[in-house]
Amino acid sequence: MTVITVSVQGKTHPAIRPEPRSEHVEVAVKCPFCGALPLCVKGEGSNIVRGRDSYQNFSAVTLCCKKPVDWIKSQMDTIFGLEEDERVLNGPWKVYR
Ligand SMILES: [Zn+2]
Repeated sequence: MTVITVSVQGKTHPAIRPEPRSEHVEVAVKCPFCGALPLCVKGEGSNIVRGRDSYQNFSAVTLCCKKPVDWIKSQMDTIFGLEEDERVLNGPWKVYR
């Protein structure tokens, strides 16, 4: 499971991915620029922050008016930690379930 948080004007909000493969997330707040609800935000330029609680951090842009909000943070429940998961899942040894 992935926990997604979006920061809009200094406030953090939980976000959902409307579909598993969608490229944007939805936040149950109004767009600070045009008032669209829900606010749809797309991440740009991911940045993996490594550590005990590794997560991905993105610059965030609204879909409605293409203006930047603070950021999107995507934190995964990993099996071995983000780095190790990547190595295991993309390595020569595939795990099939
Ligand atoms: Zn907008």
